[in-house]
Amino acid sequence: MRSHSGSSDHGPWQNWAGNVTASPARTVAPATAEQVSAEVASAAADGLTVRMTGSGHSFTPVAVTSGVRLEPSRLTAIRSVDPAAGLVTVEAGCPLHVLNAQLLARGLSLANMGDIQVQTVAGATQTGTHGTGRDLGGMAAQVAGLELVLADGRIVRCTADDEAGLPGLFNAARVGLGALGIVTAITFKVVPAFLLEAREEPMTWSEVLSRLDEFSADNEHFEFYWFPHSEGCLTKRNNRSDGPARPLSRWRHWLDDEFLSNTVFNATCRLGQLSPAVIPAINSAAARALGARTYVDAAYKVFTSPRRVRFKEEEYAVPRPALADVLGEVRSLFKRKDWRISFPIEVRVTPSDDLWLSTASGRDSAYIAIHVFHPSPHEEYFAGVEAIMTGVGGRPHWGKMHTRTADYLAGVYPRFGDFVALRDQIDPERRFGNEYLRQVLGD
Ligand SMILES: Cc1cc2nc3c(=O)[nH]c(=O)nc-3n(C[C@H](O)[C@H](O)[C@H](O)COP(=O)(O)OP(=O)(O)OC[C@H]3O[C@@H](n4cnc5c(N)ncnc54)[C@H](O)[C@@H]3O)c2cc1C
Repeated sequence: MRSHSGSSDHGPWQNWAGNVTASPARTVAPATAEQVSAEVASAAADGLTVRMTGSGHSFTPVAVTSGVRLEPSRLTAIRSVDPAAGLVTVEAGCPLHVLNAQLLARGLSLANMGDIQVQTVAGATQTGTHGTGRDLGGMAAQVAGLELVLADGRIVRCTADDEAGLPGLFNAARVGLGALGIVTAITFKVVPAFLLEAREEPMTWSEVLSRLDEFSADNEHFEFYWFPHSEGCLTKRNNRSDGPARPLSRWRHWLDDEFLSNTVFNATCRLGQLSPAVIPAINSAAARALGARTYVDAAYKVFTSPRRVRFKEEEYAVPRPALADVLGEVRSLFKRKDWRISFPIEVRVTPSDDLWLSTASGRDSAYIAIHVFHPSPHEEYFAGVEAIMTGVGGRPHWGKMHTRTADYLAGVYPRFGDFVALRDQIDPERRFGNEYLRQVLGD
């Protein structure tokens, strides 16, 4: 069967961080679910695998295919908005920043999100992208329905109440790693647009650690960054506000979020790469230089900010009660090693959810994310921190670097076996398979 998908570039593909490349046999850009179905059929006829890529913001090779790469740029429409029901249906390749702006124009908003908005909606949800929240989980927990093309070419729609005759599909496919089908559209639960008051305040490590429970219980969205080799932390407390909006001035936004967080930070990362010995002094100075600030703005403008300094990242979800001990162990590890790390460590929380492969599946979770400047070696740092995380049953973010294999993951995800069994049922030939899925799912 021939499709009418647009063909785009046929060259190699590379992720945002530049640490993952792929050379697909062909790249096509379908514009409808029917065209996706036709591409799956023609890949099967040619004995090729198929995957759709998002915006390439995963650090793992989760999106890679040597077969047919479905490119998402023609599958981006907002199909329907139902403010009364609080539901919006959007095609898989729609970038989050487009969705956020379109929702705001209609007086609506996603309830919670991560810290950037360039990912596609399908790419973000398939790996379990999350922000921080006392009561609100990750992006996939806000999904009310999915439209998927299965390996046999069927286009199915599934919700909690109607799983297209495939029990478990809804909880499996919302964080599906692209392993169960090509998502063509997603229905999100949305809420009336709201303002958040952002309160950002520098604090010492010992104060943050002693008030962790208080901060995460008293704030709707609490997170903090620790500057390695220093006592300094930056805390962020975001809570709903009745207004009025008090956005950062254009100058302050440019100074803090563009110039200091991107331009100056990029320069200090380069300096630190040339002379690692200066990194502790830079981090201490950065922690001291950060001023407190408070502003009130539309939710997505508070949740997200531009990230232009390229880095590599590992992130683990640990059981929430283990957070303070795990952070203490990470700090002790720094004392024993001669690492020089310029990137702050980010700490967030989310409540438990019921998605089978969500990092918060069945347990309240805390997230510890570590980064290095993209050209810097990461192996020893990431391995050292990973050993601490796995010691408490930590679950790696599916889109961020880790070394876990199926044997380990089966032990930390109670519904792992159910996911694998459903995949065996609906994709026995591994039409959507790749090397990364062989690593993490065992086949
Ligand atoms: C600067 C930066 C900041 C980040 N911040 C956060 C954060 O705050 N919180 C967080 O949790 N993560 C964060 N991430 C990680 C990122 O959100 C995830 O890796 C996400 O999956 C990337 O989405 P994407 O659109 O780039 O998808 P890709 O990385 O291109 O793909 C991700 C997966 O989705 C699959 N996929 C894409 N489209 C489809 C489809 N239509 N059907 C089926 N499968 C599909 C791909 O095959 C692949 O398996 C960040 C990453 C970067 C680089």
